[in-house]
Parts: sequence; C-alpha cells; structure tokens
Amino acid sequence: EKYIYSFNGEETEGDASQMNLLGGKGANLAEMARLGIPVPPGFTITTECCNAYLQSGGDYPKGYADQLEEALTRLERSMGLTFGDPDNPLLVSCRSGGRQSMPGMMETVLNVGLTTETIPGLIKKTGNGRFVYDSYRRLIMMYSDVVMEKAEGIETENGNAIRPQLERILSAFKETRGVESDAELSEEDLKEICIRFNKKVIQVLGREFPDSPRAQLEGAIGAVFKSWNGKRARSYRRIENIADNWGTGVTVQAMVFGNMGETSATGVAFTRNPATGENTFFGEWLPNAQGEDVVAGLRTPSPINEATKREKNKAVQSLEAAMPDAYRELESIRHTLEQHYKEMLDIEFTIQKERLFMLQCRVGKRTGTASMVMAMEMLDEGLIDEVTAIKRVKPHQLNELLHPIVDPDEERRAKCLTEGLPAGPGGAFGHLAFTSDEAVKLAKTHPHVILVREETNPEDIEGMRAASGILTARGGMTSHAALVARGWGKCCIVGAGGITIHPSLKKMTIDGTTFKQGDILTLNGTRGRVYEGKLNMVDATEDPRFQGFMEMADKYRTMGVRANADTREDALVAKSYGAQGIGLFRTEHMFYSAGPEDPLFILQKIILSDTESERRSAILELAPFVKQEIKNTMEAMDAMPVTIRTLDPPLHEFVPHARAKQMELAEALGVDLNEIKRRCESLQESNPMMGHRGVRLGISFPDITEMQVRAVFEATAELAKSGHHPQPEIMIPVTCDVNELVFVRKIVNRICEDVARQHGLAGLVYKFGTMIEIPRAALRARQMAELAEFFSFGTNDLTQLTYGFSRDDAGEFMPTYLENKILPADPFQTLDPRGVGELIKIAVERGRKTRPDLKIGICGEHGGDPASVRFCYKAGLDYVSCSPYRIPIARLAAAHAAI
Ligand code: ADP
Ligand code: MG
Ligand code: MG
Repeated sequence: EKYIYSFNGEETEGDASQMNLLGGKGANLAEMARLGIPVPPGFTITTECCNAYLQSGGDYPKGYADQLEEALTRLERSMGLTFGDPDNPLLVSCRSGGRQSMPGMMETVLNVGLTTETIPGLIKKTGNGRFVYDSYRRLIMMYSDVVMEKAEGIETENGNAIRPQLERILSAFKETRGVESDAELSEEDLKEICIRFNKKVIQVLGREFPDSPRAQLEGAIGAVFKSWNGKRARSYRRIENIADNWGTGVTVQAMVFGNMGETSATGVAFTRNPATGENTFFGEWLPNAQGEDVVAGLRTPSPINEATKREKNKAVQSLEAAMPDAYRELESIRHTLEQHYKEMLDIEFTIQKERLFMLQCRVGKRTGTASMVMAMEMLDEGLIDEVTAIKRVKPHQLNELLHPIVDPDEERRAKCLTEGLPAGPGGAFGHLAFTSDEAVKLAKTHPHVILVREETNPEDIEGMRAASGILTARGGMTSHAALVARGWGKCCIVGAGGITIHPSLKKMTIDGTTFKQGDILTLNGTRGRVYEGKLNMVDATEDPRFQGFMEMADKYRTMGVRANADTREDALVAKSYGAQGIGLFRTEHMFYSAGPEDPLFILQKIILSDTESERRSAILELAPFVKQEIKNTMEAMDAMPVTIRTLDPPLHEFVPHARAKQMELAEALGVDLNEIKRRCESLQESNPMMGHRGVRLGISFPDITEMQVRAVFEATAELAKSGHHPQPEIMIPVTCDVNELVFVRKIVNRICEDVARQHGLAGLVYKFGTMIEIPRAALRARQMAELAEFFSFGTNDLTQLTYGFSRDDAGEFMPTYLENKILPADPFQTLDPRGVGELIKIAVERGRKTRPDLKIGICGEHGGDPASVRFCYKAGLDYVSCSPYRIPIARLAAAHAAI
C-alpha cells in the first residue's frame, strides 16, 4: 500500500481531490505544486498511516520505512541538499493536516535537522549565524514541548511544563540586553540562549535534546500523528462534529526561511476580506520571522498592502511598500488560486531573501455576511453558478444578518464574565433588572434593559418583551425563555450556571463580583457569552444583496415556509421576511398580559366560575377580544392561509397566584378569597403536560370551543365582506383519536352555518385540521385524515411523548446524554429522524392514503432548524412553519434541500 505522496516542481503524486487521504494541507500543497506555484518540495504521509500508527500504539505499517527513505531521497535530490549532511544540510518541517481544517489544534515542528554537526555547515553556507541560532532555539522550544513532553510523555520537573520555562529564559535574556523584539538579539545572544535552553531541557525533562537528525525526524512525525488525539484537537472535533477516526496527514517539507534578515518575511492572507466579504486582498506579515510568529499571535504583524492599512503610521510598513516585487507575485498567485478553486482562500507564505514561497492554502473561514457577499460577487464575476452561490451560505449563518451583533473587534478585547447556552441570537447590552416588573419600569426610562432571572415563566412575558436581552441561570435551549426569545429574534442566554441571583436584594454575583440593578452588561446571544459594561453593536441587516440572494434561493425552493405568529405585528414581520402564511397562531398568546378589562382577567373569570351562567357571561365578554386578535392577524396576512389553533395549555397556567390578583377576581365573581383559592387549587394537576389540555378542554367545555370557532368565522365573514380574502385554517391540538375530531367538527359545522347565515353569506371558506403531536395520532393517521383536511406536526410535543422526555426537565440529563454519545444530538433542537421521523413518515403515508391532497406541515421549533427542514423536505411535507426571525433560514434550508 502507498503511504507517502511526494510533491515538487517536477513530479507531484497527489492533488486537491485527495483531502481524505492526504489531509487538506497535503492535498492543497500538491495542487499548488501542480499549478506551477512556488511551493517548497516535500511529501505527505497519509491519514491511513496515521490511523494504523495510532491503532497499533505507535508502530508504522509494513512498507512505510522503505517509502520514507525513497521520499526523503527524492526530496534531497530536488533540493540539492542532504538531510543531516554537515556541509549542505536539508532542514524540514513536519506539519499536521486533517481532512477538515482544524486551525492551530494540532502540532507542527519547524527546523528539524539542526544538530551540533549541521549547525556549523549551515552557518558557513549561508554566512548567517544569527539566523541559524534563531532557527535552532525555535527548534528546541517546539520540539521539547511537542515531541518530548507531550508526545513522548516525558515527565517534567514538578509538573512545570517546559515551554513556558524556555520562554522565560528568552524574555529574561531580552530584558538584560534591554531589547524588546527577538529581531534585536545578536548571533552571540542567540547562541548563548541555545546553550541555556539545552541545559534547561536536561534539567526539566531529565534527558538531552536529541542531536541526531534522524531521531528528530522520527520523533516529530510520531508527535504530529499523536497530536490528532491531543486535548485541543479532541474538543475542537466535538464542537465541530468532526469524526474521531479521520486521522491527520503529516507533511514533511523542505524549510524555507523568513528569518534570514530584513529581506525575508512571513505572512498570512485571505484572498478576500473574511469579515466583510469585500473583494480586497487582506493579510498580515512580519519581516525577519518564521510563520508561527504570525499564526500563534506572538508578535503583532502589519497589513500586507496599502489598501488595508488603517492607520497612516510611518512605523507600520506594508509588504507592498517594503518588497513590491514579492507583493506583486503574491497578488498574481491570489488571482491564480481564486480562478482555480473558485473560492475565497486563506493562504500562508514565506519570503526568503525576496523569493516568495507558498506554504498553505485552504478555503477560508468567514462570517455570515462575508459568505453572502462573496457568493453574490463571485456569481457576478462568472466564477460560480447560482446553485453554487446558494450553497455557499449555510442557513444558520443568516442569523448574523438578521440581528444586531456585538462588534467583533470590541468583543475580542473584552473579558468574558461567564458563559451560558446561546439561546437567542444577536447581541444586546443594557441595565440589569431582576424581575419582570422592574424590567418594564426600567425600560420606560432606559431604552436598553437586560432581564436577569433564575428561569422564566409566562408571567415574565412583559419583562421579556421590554428587555433588549434575557439572561437566566437555569434552563435549556428549549426552555420557555429561549423559545420566546427566538420567536422574537431577541438576544438570550439561558442556563448560565456561573451566576448566583438574589432577586430580593436586586443583585447577582458572578465569580465573586456583585452586579446590582441598573449596572450594565453585554450579552452575545449567538455565542452565549456575558461581558461587563457596554460593548458596541454593529448592524448587519438591510443589504440589498441579501434580498437578491434570498430571491435567488427561492427560485430553487419547492417547499412552503410559514411563520408561527400570534399578533398582527409578528405577522407583518413574518411577511417582510418572506412568510407564505401562518402555520401556527396560538390563541392563548393574547392572555399573556395582565390587568382588569384585559383578556386574561376575563379568561380567569371563565376558568374560575362555578355556574353555567357565570361562565356564559364571561365567555360572551371575552369573545370580541378573541375575534379582534384573529381578525387583525388574518387581515395582515390577507390571501394567505392562517392556521389558528384552539386553546392548548392546561387552564391552571392562566390562574393567578398573587394574592392581590386573587382578591380582584373574588370581587369580580362575588365570592370570597378562600373560595377563589380553593377553585385555583382544584385545577392543579400532577402532570399538566399530559393533563386536561388541548382538545380535551374543548370537549369538556364545548362552549369555549364554540366561542373560539365563532370568533374565527366572524372575523372571516367581516373580512370577506370588506373585500379581503381570509383563509382561516382551524387546527385542533393534542388529539389522539378521530372521534375527538368528530366531536369538534360538529361544533365547527354548526357555528359556520350560523355565522354565514347571520352575515347573509352563502358559506365561508376554511379548512379544518389537526396537529399530530401524540404518537397514537400519527399511527392512526389514516382515520384522522378522514376528518382532517390538513396535518401539522407539533414536533415539540411529539418529541417529548415519543422519547418520554419532559421538555422542561431534559436540560438536567441531556448534556450527559450528549457527552456520552447516547444521543447524537438534542432531539428538541434537531428533529430525530429515526424515531420521531419514523412516526412522521408513517403519518404522511397513511394520511395521504385516505386523502391524497392532505396538506401537511410542521409547526414545532424544528421548523427553523436547517437539518430538520431537510428532513421535512424528504418526508414530502408541503411547508414548514417557524418563528418569524427564522424564516430566511428556513427558506434557504429548503432551497438547499431541493438542489
Ligand atoms: P497550522 O496548521 O497550525 O497553521 P502549519 O503546519 O501551517 O500549522 O505551520 C505553522 C507555520 O509554520 C506556517 O504558517 C508556516 O509559516 C510555517 N512553516 C511550516 N512549514 C514550513 C516550511 N517548510 N518552511 C517555512 N515555514 C514553514
Ligand atoms: Mg497553517
Ligand atoms: Mg403541543
């Protein structure tokens, strides 16, 4: 088997298509060599060899040793140098590179091959002792850390790592010399430092620094392989969902030197601006340095060209000004690479005595805004086609474009106080408030408020509405606060376990620091980070290119996208983001506000009334409110379908707990306080999620159903008569049997006729359907579809009931489940294709057997999750419905699914 692939100016064995085998770095170096771009020659050892090496516990596969000799000989020949030769020594770097880029997560060792024998030869040959000792001290620093300590596991004295000790020697030395940068150290200084380094290595690691080029090479290759399983690399893979068994390649490459003096340099660049997407060459460089200085942020580099130089600082010189020829060549390589890869690339280069060498290229990471801008511009330039342009933007990246975000420059400099779950995207800053009421009050005088709560419940809704951002100590991504925040496109961090809240004292503590009401914090809801004080926000919206991009994506999309919206305002936002209807209008939403005369108060009267007539009169009182809300929303969505769900939550959720509120009610109903208390308690259920809710309420209290249905039809009749085109869809929640639908349908028919007659209309156009959110309903879909003209999957409840996981409590064990890979993902965030998805497929198939034109959608939180949208497309759904702010994301995800 072939384990090693060479690349050089004459013959190159690999190419860019071999990312999996050679790793991204190795494959792209080979590709650049093929394109005739100046790349120092070398060879890449495959990821398969890495896997064999790691699995066997450190043995190389058969045939490897011979192939290594051959590849090394080839490299020596093409360089005209010999590895380990005292007169004409070849030095190499040993570089890691996985299938997918993991920048800085694995190890690289430079200057391998410098020993007491080769040092004098190299000095003689180059006439530059300073550069040779600078390279040697770098080798000792990297190798003792990466190979000896980390890979070979040599124990350090007192457990003090070697690298910082060597760094201290270096900085102490600079201090005694009174200089700031390494570049100011002389040859003698560096030689002395190397002597001290070698002594320190023996003292700390208990053995000598290897003085044989072969031993160094072998050690470095093994260490790079082992760095695949390093701590950093492993956690990065967790976050990025990269498989553990891919392995890394090792590229052994002839060294070129950016540290040979002032005509040498090293740098990193992006072929376009990775933050804004602007088509300008963007990069940084350092004279007289090796690449690690730039990538590891050891020194502050300068911009490569005049165009991107911000300050007109004389001391800062661009590469363009310092070495115009090398810069021009770099620009032409930039052009060659973009034309070839048709992508924005991230490149690394080194200049040795004014000669330019390319050391790496890969597809560059970028912000959401930059992705979109680059895709549209490359389309205009004819570099890519529409489908490619659409695919270039990941749906979740649109988040950034739809919310104000924390200025990334400021954030980089700020210290993060604590972290939580990134529940609602975007950024927000504001004055702290510790209760909902305070938040509302504070918001009247201060436009920016952050509501801090242990957790939130429906009674906090107004405070949440008033706040710019929400922070909770407990709760998960599907917690109430998170759900609501996302629905509003509001910045929100939940489950920030590091904060301790004292609501009664109006303060909280983080890591021993106290924050009081009125103090200012900043939240980054996209990353789940909390900062002290105010960080600036930048606005990422309203780019006409964004509109153009979305229109283009829509051309390829076949599945509909609707919004979950409960008010006229939300409906208008949804429409502006391209919603094609409302997939979920929650009637109960209008009860989430308080005060006598308000719908909630009337609803409470209905709930707590004891007699038929008490209830009737309260229901009559409530009816106009319900009709008006529904009418407002249907009017806003004119000619588009609006799915209105009848009352869903258990009644006790609406019952007041505060004494003052209970008193008001007692007065209104003409009973005493104790009686009200008794009636409230009698509504308590031990498992309300599976209790008296949804259609069950509508069956126990048919007059409540009647009132809601009448409200829908009256709104419809009034709108129809005033020249509108209302398209109501009445949706019955939490059903499990067709007989429930039979019961409700009778009421619906009767009221429909009644209202039509009253308004003198021949009939009213509407649809009748049900949510499918109980596994039994999915299994009985054939019967359900006899009555239902549409299905809408309520995947929050369906997931909860399929798994038997309470959505409000899953936060307790979900992290452990994910860590131990018991579940691949949180099923409340990404639709579970195997179990819940199976039920969906069954319901689609059986439902359509009964009714081929059955309309099917989804209205759970999953409707805005790209992977779930893809699943819905494959399952044959007609539309997805999600919160207004996620509509562009769902539109793009649906386009991706269709192309
Ligand atoms: P990473 O994947 O962390 O970026 P690299 O393998 O790219 O690690 O190495 C880090 C830096 O070392 C590179 O930016 C490059 O400048 C420098 N480097 C690597 N190999 C060589 C080489 N053969 N000659 C000169 N510099 C090199
Ligand atoms: Mg690199
Ligand atoms: Mg539900």
